[in-house]
Amino acid sequence: MEYKIGLIHGDGIGPEIVHEAKKVLDAVCKKYGHTLIYSTLLLGGASIEAYGVPLTNETVDHAKECDAVLMGSIGGDPETSPWYQLESSKRPEVGLLGIRKALNLFANLRPVYLYDELRAACPLREEIIGDGFDIMIMRELTGGLYFGEKKTTEVDAVRTAIDTLTYNEHEIRRIAKRGFDIAMKRRRKITSIDKANVLDSSRLWRAVVEEVAKYYPEVQLEHMLVDNCAMQMVKNPAQFDVILTENMFGDILSDEASILTGSIGMLPSASLNETKFGLYEPSHGSAPNIAGQNIANPIAAILSAAMMLRYSLDLDTEADAVENAVKKTLANGYRTVDIMSDGCRQTVTSKMGDLIVSYLVEGEHKNAK
Ligand code: NAD
Repeated sequence: MEYKIGLIHGDGIGPEIVHEAKKVLDAVCKKYGHTLIYSTLLLGGASIEAYGVPLTNETVDHAKECDAVLMGSIGGDPETSPWYQLESSKRPEVGLLGIRKALNLFANLRPVYLYDELRAACPLREEIIGDGFDIMIMRELTGGLYFGEKKTTEVDAVRTAIDTLTYNEHEIRRIAKRGFDIAMKRRRKITSIDKANVLDSSRLWRAVVEEVAKYYPEVQLEHMLVDNCAMQMVKNPAQFDVILTENMFGDILSDEASILTGSIGMLPSASLNETKFGLYEPSHGSAPNIAGQNIANPIAAILSAAMMLRYSLDLDTEADAVENAVKKTLANGYRTVDIMSDGCRQTVTSKMGDLIVSYLVEGEHKNAK
């Protein structure tokens, strides 16, 4: 099959890690007989350098013509980069929010997976970690409190601020459907998170999720209050498969969950719209402090590419192959500096990409250093 892929190399370590992700994509496509046609899109600092703005209509139009977009992180060091001297509407991050909005990317997916080899980096006790955990957090990304009407006024000479938490049933239904579809590709369990004991928006959330669940009889649905979920995440993370939740709860819970995996350099993400299209990017930023040194961990970008294969291109076997190659590389003791531990072999960004490719291509690695 042939697919059109947009590549946003990004800023800082972005170009280095996207280079490695592309290496792995090329290898998996060669192995399984697919063709990816790449085009380069500019966003963030790179777009400011070229056009004076962090996002152009051309980038949005170009992205819309692609089956998926793979992105490195964008942004510079806010203390030293001239991009942060620009007026706030022209700074790099505005480009990212702009493209998410322009492409209607309402569903954010963040897998939270503990690699056995990185257990020591997990802050939980051994008996809680048990056999590990594999959670998919599915967060609504374009509605709720962050996008509702807001204002700060004076009421009887007292400064008063209002934020509005609004969801309509269509917004809830579309993210719930996405969540159930993804649960069908996993262990078929959804924990829907809300605060239905006090919030109307949560009661509607719960009702609509129940309606959608009727179309997915194979998926087990449970509801959990967000405060309980925050506790359960550190008490028994293995109980979760897909966590489905609204924007702000998802924001907080996904950060709590990410620390359980040990390193930000390992965490991929996907943002999807109503079609198969998705924007795939590592959860970390552009790490300007280590840019250009060939020491960044490319695994979050490589795993983002695997998510792209799975969710936008429906290439599950190919996605599995990439994820297994990452596991084998870690199991054989290779580590970039951010995940280095005693007894392991430290390697650099480009070498980590090569190792993952070699495990992918040959099933086993001949190139031990
Ligand atoms: P960051 O995630 O870039 O870096 C935080 C720390 O983690 C740094 O010490 C960095 O060296 C390290 N780190 C991050 N990714 C790594 C990797 N792959 N391998 C090894 N170490 C890694 O966060 P920050 O420093 O707060 O932000 C830097 C820039 O990134 C800012 O301009 C910020 O706005 C931007 N940012 C972009 C995105 C995005 O593109 N989605 C997300 C977050 C931050």
